[in-house]
Amino acid sequence: MGKKELIRKFISFYTSSRVEQRGRRLYKSGAIKSIEYDKKTDTYYAQVEGSKLYKTRVRGVLKGDITTSCTCPFDWGLVCKHTVAVLLHIQNNKGEILKKNNREFDDPIKMADFKNITESLILKKVI
Ligand SMILES: [Zn+2]
Repeated sequence: MGKKELIRKFISFYTSSRVEQRGRRLYKSGAIKSIEYDKKTDTYYAQVEGSKLYKTRVRGVLKGDITTSCTCPFDWGLVCKHTVAVLLHIQNNKGEILKKNNREFDDPIKMADFKNITESLILKKVI
């Protein structure tokens, strides 16, 4: 399955059409402030502007086994509109990296937080 098809299926399986629509609107309005891809862990780290700036993570696109997380308080389902926006960005872009706001993007503490979470998850799996 190609990347586009995989993401399309993931979105239609894990979101309601309402959340998907909102995510599409977010994506089109340029709400994604930055996105970085870490090849080693097959993980995208994005910052998405909502009522606050949220950090959204998408893993496993390359492997075909997608898992996502977001720092927003969304709890109506598995996948929030920020995650949909990031998935649409990944789906529609050949160049995987976007940096609109380098200053926030390069904040070492924020990014380190995320990487620590990822690493601990990997370690758990290995053990
Ligand atoms: Zn979210």
